[in-house]
Amino acid sequence: MEYGTARSVHISELAWPEYDARVRDGKTPVLIPVGALEQHGPHMSMNPDVLLPTAISERVADRIRALVAPPIAYGYKSQQKSGGGNHMPGTTSLDGLTVTSTIRDVLKELARHGVRRTVLVNGHYENSAFIVEGVDLAQRELRWDGIRDFSTVVLSYWDFVTQEAIDDIYQGEFPGWAVEHGGVLETSLMLHLHPHLVDMEKVCDHAPAQFPPYDFFPIKPEWTPASGCLSSAKRASAQHGETLLKVCVDGISRELARAFD
Ligand SMILES: [Zn+2]
Repeated sequence: MEYGTARSVHISELAWPEYDARVRDGKTPVLIPVGALEQHGPHMSMNPDVLLPTAISERVADRIRALVAPPIAYGYKSQQKSGGGNHMPGTTSLDGLTVTSTIRDVLKELARHGVRRTVLVNGHYENSAFIVEGVDLAQRELRWDGIRDFSTVVLSYWDFVTQEAIDDIYQGEFPGWAVEHGGVLETSLMLHLHPHLVDMEKVCDHAPAQFPPYDFFPIKPEWTPASGCLSSAKRASAQHGETLLKVCVDGISRELARAFD
């Protein structure tokens, strides 16, 4: 992808007439990666929740002739049982209302440009309900403006990892997506896509975090492993990352073609 050319999938890299020409008829889907600034253990940068859905969106857009909006780089507060908790240094979060309002505003702006097919590609578990609320508010307000054909797919990329890939990578020791924070999935994808942002020598090899079947507030920091990760990334590799990227891009491309059919 070359900066500033008409072939770019990034709407921010297009001049407005080119963008206008590509979205005006409403047929071109626009993918919006939604991430977070959140610690991911001592071995990795704090931006995988932004970089991973962005990388996946770029490849999907290339395949289905879609565009990618700039990612939303902050997300809802890290929860202890899925992201280590919002008490960790570096983790920088938005209130739910802010996430919801941001999603609503961006969708309504895209609609004003003529876009009618949108996809929110989530990279941070905690965002999920606030994304859905933003979509609902946007669609409600667009209906008030007489726009009834604006559609949105909401997805989290890890839901497209196939059982076959899970069996291959985890060898029967898959801990579940909730405790994959800073674990094999994200670390492998980062090793494949952005290896300079990972230091495998700093991986803390510990058993998956165990939590009671409830949340407790204010949180008990001692519930979170000292590393900030909820499972070990020891098994991570660039090769697994390549596999994970492929199944996500394949699955999302296939399902979007079906959804917008
Ligand atoms: Zn993450």
